[in-house]
Amino acid sequence: RVKDPSAPIRMRTSDLSIVSTEERAALLRRPVLRSDEMISKVKPIVEDVRKRGDAALIELTAKFDKVQLNEVLIRPPFSPESMIIDDAVREAIDVAYANIRKFHLAQAEKSTLVVETMPGVVCSRFARAISRVGLYVPGGTAILPSTALMLGVPAQVAGCKEIVIATPPRPDGSISPEVMYVAKLVGASAILKAGGAQAISAMAYGTATVPKVDKIFGPGNQWVTAAKMLVQNDTDALVGIDMPAGPSEVLVIADSTANPAFVAADLLSQAEHGVDSQVVLVAVDLSSSLLAAIESEVDSQARALERVDIMRESIAKSIIVKVKTTEEALTFSNDYAPEHLIIHLADASGAVKSVENAGSVFVGAYSPESFGDYASGTNHTLPTNGYARQFSGVNTLSFQKHITSQEITQEGLRLLGPTVATLADCEGLGAHANAVRVRLRA
Ligand code: NAD
Repeated sequence: RVKDPSAPIRMRTSDLSIVSTEERAALLRRPVLRSDEMISKVKPIVEDVRKRGDAALIELTAKFDKVQLNEVLIRPPFSPESMIIDDAVREAIDVAYANIRKFHLAQAEKSTLVVETMPGVVCSRFARAISRVGLYVPGGTAILPSTALMLGVPAQVAGCKEIVIATPPRPDGSISPEVMYVAKLVGASAILKAGGAQAISAMAYGTATVPKVDKIFGPGNQWVTAAKMLVQNDTDALVGIDMPAGPSEVLVIADSTANPAFVAADLLSQAEHGVDSQVVLVAVDLSSSLLAAIESEVDSQARALERVDIMRESIAKSIIVKVKTTEEALTFSNDYAPEHLIIHLADASGAVKSVENAGSVFVGAYSPESFGDYASGTNHTLPTNGYARQFSGVNTLSFQKHITSQEITQEGLRLLGPTVATLADCEGLGAHANAVRVRLRA
């Protein structure tokens, strides 16, 4: 639908001091995700790849991506010709890689936690890498080497042995050289030339050539997301996923000290993702002239940007929420649980202690979301749709799991044995009690 290009590109405004409880709840809600419907659509694709493996992958890639593949999987060493990229882009990828690696390496759990809960009762916990991981790098409408970095680096520093990167092939059957270059940097062990539900199925079940993985990560369109949800629930696949995904979102909090051009630019950098992007501005006691300046910047900056048509639609669905105090703003933000939270407040750093729910926080005038999206070091794969209430973004621990262990001495057995036997008797599990008493008697 072509919208009137002369119409102003502007957000809707709500005043939190006058909205009803129902209206406030509506402001916090995201558009409904029709996951049941999508799951029934992807099921035949997932089943087909599960049953017919590589032959189905080749047919489905021809059907959905219009690419005739000779090979579905490539293993290193990757040919130098497949990684020829612009010098400036390579240098930028190298800087981003170094920062993301530095931050994610620091998160890797190397030491063992040891606690003696009673004399002679030693409990410990240690982390081990998830052995085989599948990283989905979307490729339908844009090339996304940044997503390959954000998933590949933590997999590499966690020590995953098999790192499969799946991404849709280009029309000539090749993979974008930027993604190939990142695959080499992060030590990927295979590249699967497939996208959509078929790629997820191949990694979940394995085929003659595609290795089966233990956990699948990464964003993607609704086909990818629904397939991840489907395979996660199949005990035959025995595969985990990173998190539920939905359209990307940002919530910006601004007070009278905010720079209108910066605020508008931050809102637009999210609004350009797609027509379903969620953009919220929480305005803290802003004068009408400052609010008007922000709105005018949104309109004029959007018009100067390439993806103006997408922004025209996403901005029209976005909201400005007027509040009186910083506390009210942070309460609203915590209730919304945004994927990205940008704080343009006089005391931006001071506000961070009040953040309870958010995927990633951008503090102060000089911290655009773009930094975290690409190169500062934090991860850009984050919980959307309010899942920041209970999920963390992808991090190094997402690629590890914990194992607990215990070692009991004779002293520990004597001290704790009777307690354990009593509890086992109480639950009527005689064999459990016996395993303790047989030792106590000895
Ligand atoms: P994609 O790689 O996710 O999907 C492309 C694949 O979808 C194709 O290979 C095809 O196999 C399949 N497909 C398309 N139409 C189909 C149909 N009708 N039937 C069956 N299969 C079909 O790439 P995309 O479509 O460009 O989507 C990328 C998504 O990833 C966007 O929604 C974007 O917002 C999201 N994204 C999110 C983040 C994040 O961190 N949140 C980052 C990057 C991208």
